[in-house]
Amino acid sequence: MAEPIEQDWIARPSLLQLLRLLNEAGGEARIAGGAVRNALLDQPISDVDIATNLVPRDVILRMQAAGHKTVPTGIEHGTVTVVLEGDAYEVTTLRRDIETDGRHAKVLYGTDWVADASRRDLTINALYLNADGTVYDPLGGMQDVLSQTVRFIDDAETRIKEDYLRILRFFRFFAWYGKFRPDAEGLKACTRLKGGLSELSAERIWHELSRLLAAPDPSRAILWMRTTGVLSAVLPETEKWGIDALPGLMAAEQQQGWQIDGLLRLMAIIPPMEERVSAISDRLKLPNKVKSRLRNWAQVEPLNAALNQDPFNQWLYWQNQTAVGDKLHLAIAKNDAESKKLLRQLKWLKRWNRPEFPLRGGDLINLGMAAGPAISEKLLELEQAWVNSNFTAPKDELLANVT
Ligand code: ATP
Ligand code: MG
Repeated sequence: MAEPIEQDWIARPSLLQLLRLLNEAGGEARIAGGAVRNALLDQPISDVDIATNLVPRDVILRMQAAGHKTVPTGIEHGTVTVVLEGDAYEVTTLRRDIETDGRHAKVLYGTDWVADASRRDLTINALYLNADGTVYDPLGGMQDVLSQTVRFIDDAETRIKEDYLRILRFFRFFAWYGKFRPDAEGLKACTRLKGGLSELSAERIWHELSRLLAAPDPSRAILWMRTTGVLSAVLPETEKWGIDALPGLMAAEQQQGWQIDGLLRLMAIIPPMEERVSAISDRLKLPNKVKSRLRNWAQVEPLNAALNQDPFNQWLYWQNQTAVGDKLHLAIAKNDAESKKLLRQLKWLKRWNRPEFPLRGGDLINLGMAAGPAISEKLLELEQAWVNSNFTAPKDELLANVT
């Protein structure tokens, strides 16, 4: 049996109040999905989702009557966000699927908790928590949570054909909560049906991939994705490059106490080449911030482990700092003869404050130079000289050389 759930959020007054209101007068409401799973594993939760037999209109009316704010965030699929005492909860009406096409589902509201559980993807995601703190487990998900078994609800192939995103979700949840190996039937179904991933929108794929990459250690999940061909289906760029760098990165993260960084894991398995990186960015419609981080990483000059602090700083001045950091992390993770020196460079990088070049175009115009392209050329030359002085040459000394 599971230990009693002892996470603070369960006793949050706003949550208890919400459940009390929804459970009055024929209403039924339970905490659903990820929060229950994570509570059973004593892991932190991201958000508390509520399932209820009340239709959205009734949820809204009840909340308004009690003076709480509601936002129809996902009203078309039955979700209302309720804000109580500053805490936001997504309240979703029980549903059953009436039609699926591999990407979208047509849903009907229902009052059947087993039907609601059955339309979810994985057994570990089909758990509920009653207001009194007891677990409602219609499909035997609790046992799978505790044994860290990740498997589909009912027949894997059928469930994947309803929504191909579930292929990626299978690996994502294995990365976070799975032990040993993913369920064999699920693996087989993913292998057979991976072609369906091409029907999904880029945004949905990236949403899952980025969460998978942010798992404490996604390397086994990614290995299984490679074995099944799922990785090539979503990231063909990894095919020739390979994923051998991942275990080293995991080890370095551990040893060096680096923060989990999903994008660094991605960089470890794709070639650092501009055209490849831009192909990924376009295909997956990556957010601009992600796109430019990848591009900068692919463009940055090669590292030179032999540089000591001053020459390193002088080189760094001309580089994109984040990109150098990314390259350093990945190179250190190779754990080869250069790693120690690169680790020192990473320390310098972390302490680095990019000094500000003291001259402006106006300084040259004041000396009588005519405005025009010659100014920026001269400025760049002076900036070079200033960097080579290890950022020490004072303004007047630099200007003294202007003829
Ligand atoms: P996290 O803590 O990462 O948010 P989560 O379990 O809350 O994990 P979500 O992606 O937020 O995961 O989905 C919430 C719940 O909705 C899941 O637990 C699952 O029951 C259900 N669900 C989400 N996406 C699907 C899907 N594509 N097919 C079936 N069920 C799904
Ligand atoms: Mg969630």
